[in-house]
Amino acid sequence: MDIQHIRELFPILNQEINGEPLIYFDNAATSQTPISVVDAMVAYYQTDNANIHRGVHALAERATQAYEGTRQKVAQWLNAQHTEEIIFNRGTTEGLNFLAQGLVEPQLNEGDLILTTKLEHHSNLVPWQEVCQRTGASLEFLPLSADWTVDLPSLDKYDDSSIKALVIHHVSNVLGVEQSLQALSNWAHERGALLIVDGAQAVPHLPVDVQQLGVDAYCFSGHKMYGPTGIGAVYLKASHHETTQPVQFGGEMIHYVGDLASDYKQAPWKFEAGTMPISQVVGLGAAIDFIADIGYATIGDHESKLVAKLCQGLDHLDGVTRLNQNVQAPHGLVSFNIDGVHPHDAATAYDLEGIAVRAGHHCAQPLMRVLDTPATLRASVGMYNTLEEVERFIEVTEKVRDFFK
Ligand code: PLP
Repeated sequence: MDIQHIRELFPILNQEINGEPLIYFDNAATSQTPISVVDAMVAYYQTDNANIHRGVHALAERATQAYEGTRQKVAQWLNAQHTEEIIFNRGTTEGLNFLAQGLVEPQLNEGDLILTTKLEHHSNLVPWQEVCQRTGASLEFLPLSADWTVDLPSLDKYDDSSIKALVIHHVSNVLGVEQSLQALSNWAHERGALLIVDGAQAVPHLPVDVQQLGVDAYCFSGHKMYGPTGIGAVYLKASHHETTQPVQFGGEMIHYVGDLASDYKQAPWKFEAGTMPISQVVGLGAAIDFIADIGYATIGDHESKLVAKLCQGLDHLDGVTRLNQNVQAPHGLVSFNIDGVHPHDAATAYDLEGIAVRAGHHCAQPLMRVLDTPATLRASVGMYNTLEEVERFIEVTEKVRDFFK
């Protein structure tokens, strides 16, 4: 992997912050965007911009081709069986809300159960709290093993017939742990339950094969995988298309509009109401091409070296506690605290050294309560980060610790 060449494809990295070269370690929040993705969106606006599906003129046809062509690309990338299983939206949050309200809520009755974990991002928790409160169903948290994966053997305690869905992250945004989706899918399907997955932190780091994993639905966001903001997608298995209700209504998603009632299009178009973010879809397609050109094997190999070095460096520092100690090979990130230093103060000190890290609860307050801390620091890497950046990060961590002593 020619890291210098890759860095040149991300001009934003080439700048100083507070007189120091920028080290961008906030990739789990939003990754940077390569020139090819920006260029694809600029080219779209300069040559093809029009509204999709409705127009018969040349630009409308080109825009429609670009949009539907990207749907095909996403489907192949996730190894979906059908292109129509890909539904575009604003990102993971919108995808999970859609699945909660459109797929699961219509099937929920009082006494039913949705299973999840204490590791979820709020985006994969609050929508389920809402539908449970509205229907009288219950939300329960799965037991976890010491390595933070779901403790499958202890799941036998549940009354099978009431479980309607298991909703879970693929990779945690705080601990970097990867859940074993195939095993969870077998377990859920043996009980007639759905497996719904938040893949926001997985797709930047590892290949996803929705058929092999056996998921019913899988959500992700473009801006965490080198694509633009404002775009994401849901994979929704075709067998659920009939039972899933649209949650937004209006133009584009209709087949025929009567005075008092309307017919809707087939999926996925019945789930895409109004004018969609077409240029961002084009950008998402370019981001997939960009990842494919480099290859997940190369990305994964490089990032695992970065994360291993981060873990090793932090573990050698007295007064620093890493929170994912028990996670085998965390994906892309480490969360930690410096004893006696509030994470926000530490993050400000890192910024003065040109380093962007995140501090806070990372939209995972239930997990913060399990970890018994109100907040953590989180350093998260992307394919363009270097081992030298990790070395400097460890040096600065020592400096920050000593400054606040
Ligand atoms: N799920 C996880 C695990 C995340 O890390 C995030 C974002 O941080 C989300 C969901 C929400 O993604 P978005 O804000 O793009 O909808």
